[in-house]
Amino acid sequence: MNDTFMPDCPIPFAGSRVDFAEMDRSEGSLALLQSHPKASVVLMHKGQVASDGPQLLRAAPNAVGGLPLYDPGLIFLGLENDGDPVFAASLKDDSLLPPEALIDLRMQGHQLAPDELAVAGRARSIFDWHRTHPFCAQCGQATQSSDGGAKRVCGACETEHFPRVNPVVIFLIEHEDSVLLGRGPSWPPGYYSALAGFVSPGETLEEAATREGMEEVGATLSQHRYLFCQPWPFPSQLMVGLVSQAADKTINVDKNELEDARWFTRAEVEAVFEGTGQAFMRPMQTTIAHQLLKAWLSRQ
Ligand SMILES: [Zn+2]
Repeated sequence: MNDTFMPDCPIPFAGSRVDFAEMDRSEGSLALLQSHPKASVVLMHKGQVASDGPQLLRAAPNAVGGLPLYDPGLIFLGLENDGDPVFAASLKDDSLLPPEALIDLRMQGHQLAPDELAVAGRARSIFDWHRTHPFCAQCGQATQSSDGGAKRVCGACETEHFPRVNPVVIFLIEHEDSVLLGRGPSWPPGYYSALAGFVSPGETLEEAATREGMEEVGATLSQHRYLFCQPWPFPSQLMVGLVSQAADKTINVDKNELEDARWFTRAEVEAVFEGTGQAFMRPMQTTIAHQLLKAWLSRQ
């Protein structure tokens, strides 16, 4: 029996080819990087990213510098191809971009090449962090971006603030040859996915999955196995993928959390992924839930 779960690599939003370049990020160094002949700027607008087919639409830094930009202006993402600087900017005026260039990463991210999707996800997450952290959590005074957007520094107490990543467990509940999936009330009709929840302070990943399984569907879970994880930039989660064993198929759905949850057989899930069955609408390609289900199916 092949008991390994393998993702359908690469994991969406991961596998960036950009070296994050934790290097000298002084203003002088960043100015030099901006004048590099191969420097490029990924263009965004209100969380969307500009694309040209599978590639990100980029501009030269000097073409962006004079434009109205959302805070904090140009951010430095890192170096690609062993030294080409990559920046990102969030434009205030989307009319400067070709029509149809802006895409929604959550709904249309699969149109991008995998390494471009990873770059766009990182940029989106960092811009969102800047947007939501204009003030110091220590003293309440204004913070300013520093080191090309890698951190924010309080102008009053000088506390440094760094982007945070929030862990979320997302778990396929398995019993015998079936898997339990649920759906939220606002989801498209027929759309089912793996259950998920934020990890609370003081919890392990396994304890979080056990708690969420009991809260959401009344399932008694054990034998959690880590499979793989995924950065999820909406805004800054790390989705940690598990497969968890249910003691039996008894469930009691918490209707405050989920509209429905039900068991699907391997044959039903297989047919959905092969396009020959319609037991449910599968999670989008860019989600770890999609990858978890494919990995679950691939186990013989
Ligand atoms: Zn402060």
